[in-house]
Amino acid sequence: MNLRKLLLLFSLCIVFPLFGQEGREKVPRPKLVVGIVVDQMRWDYLYRYYGRYGDDGFKRLLKEGFSFENTYINHLPTVTGIGHATVFTGSVPAIHGITGNSFTFNSTGESTNCVGDNSYETVGNNSTTGQRSPTHLLVTTIGDELKLATNFRAKVIGVSLKDRASILPAGHSADAAYWYDTKTGEFVTSTYYMDELPKWVSDFNKEGRAKKYMDQDWNTLYDIDTYVQSTEDDKPYEGTLKGQETPTFPVKLSELYTDDDLSNLYSTTFGNSITLDLAKAAIVEEEMGQGKITDMLTINLASTDAVGHRVGVNSIEIEDTYLRLDKELGKFFSHLDSQVGEGNYTVFLTADHGGAHNRYFLEENKIPTHILKSPIKKEMNQLLENKFGVDKIVRSTGSMQVYFDYKIINEHGLDEQEIRDVCMAYLRRNPEILYVVDMHNVANASVPKEIKERIVNGHHPDRSGAIQFILNPNSSGREKGTSHSHWNPYDAKIPNLWMGWGIKKGGQSAKQAHMEDIAPTVSSLLRITPPNGNIGKALEEVLDLNNL
Ligand code: ZN
Ligand code: ZN
Repeated sequence: MNLRKLLLLFSLCIVFPLFGQEGREKVPRPKLVVGIVVDQMRWDYLYRYYGRYGDDGFKRLLKEGFSFENTYINHLPTVTGIGHATVFTGSVPAIHGITGNSFTFNSTGESTNCVGDNSYETVGNNSTTGQRSPTHLLVTTIGDELKLATNFRAKVIGVSLKDRASILPAGHSADAAYWYDTKTGEFVTSTYYMDELPKWVSDFNKEGRAKKYMDQDWNTLYDIDTYVQSTEDDKPYEGTLKGQETPTFPVKLSELYTDDDLSNLYSTTFGNSITLDLAKAAIVEEEMGQGKITDMLTINLASTDAVGHRVGVNSIEIEDTYLRLDKELGKFFSHLDSQVGEGNYTVFLTADHGGAHNRYFLEENKIPTHILKSPIKKEMNQLLENKFGVDKIVRSTGSMQVYFDYKIINEHGLDEQEIRDVCMAYLRRNPEILYVVDMHNVANASVPKEIKERIVNGHHPDRSGAIQFILNPNSSGREKGTSHSHWNPYDAKIPNLWMGWGIKKGGQSAKQAHMEDIAPTVSSLLRITPPNGNIGKALEEVLDLNNL
């Protein structure tokens, strides 16, 4: 650069000193990011009911947005608390510390709900529903990083029927997280966030929406004979709502609640409706996406999970729940269009885990199933007592992990490795158990690479069991409905959809992606640092960032 050009540049800086200040050179970011987690949504629901979806919901995401068609959960077990922590931190249980919906600390022997925290109280009523906080989450979320990047001027709010699915996504520095009190049918929060509900949340509660939805009863959206993608309505392996006689339509919800028990709403399609009502109200009342700073709203739709657990993934109830959710999502997106403006917001939609088919349904259709019948905890404790003369060394076998009681082990001066070896030898003899892994010696375990990686990612030394075992496929022992927690694709393959500001239009990728890739992708989109435990990789195919 010669002297004349340098002088010209210098004089320009004097004449236009405001260049570079916020408002003139704003960081290109969407006005609002909305992260939606559809609880227990198997990826194949996108296509299972594709022909019956409208243009405004799932199909709008697929056609106007971008879909990663091969996205897997890369940890074990595949459950709600872990899934939500992972989506919003880009991390894994080994680092973020959420190893289950509840877990035990090996160091103290204390058990906790993953968002349990007695140092806080309920805001909204006198129950204990609000004794919750994100304290057990060891890392930051996207929301926390957005807060840090904007000197806490961004607004971050979480909504769900479930405490953990509202609290964990929103993060430590969130303005609020709201969840449903199944007794009163109201949304509450914790003193961790505030001392009093905002007026708009109190007003929302006073409207008595839960009862209004229940008074509508639940019948199928279309003629029940058109639900050809589902098994017939009345099956012995479908569970009922509290007070319901048969698991069949029409569901007389108006007769299935009382003034102090509105829990049944949770297990019907209307639980999603009331959650999206609250989300829409939050956008309007909190003016989310209306200012100069990017805001973030996290939404979990929990009723898809509750309906699935009750009646299974091949039921008319699930088909109807997804057809109705599709319409509700369509309305939600048009709400975003009118409140924030089309093209001004970014939405991503995923799931915390999938769900298995009920084993009796599979057996009816000649597909093999397995069941772990023997009482393994009891039998291991018996073997250990025979050898060491001490009872109750195995505390739990939840999440397909063997947890020891270290207080007992230390008190009696026992050798933990000897205890492990007894348990490992016992588990290996069981034909229903496919693999047994000593978490002190994972490297030498003969387990396929993909499964080994998920075991390692799921293991936190103070919050996981000492031994991990893996069952044969289709080993869910649940008599009615469904469950989830395994590595298999039915539990681990999830939708991964994107739409709006900064997102490529109408694309699909068959590349294998992982749940923990979502958070660094959002971080790239927002031009903020990824959460501090992130190990995922940004999904560059989805991003259209040539706009700086
Ligand atoms: Zn879940
Ligand atoms: Zn579940």
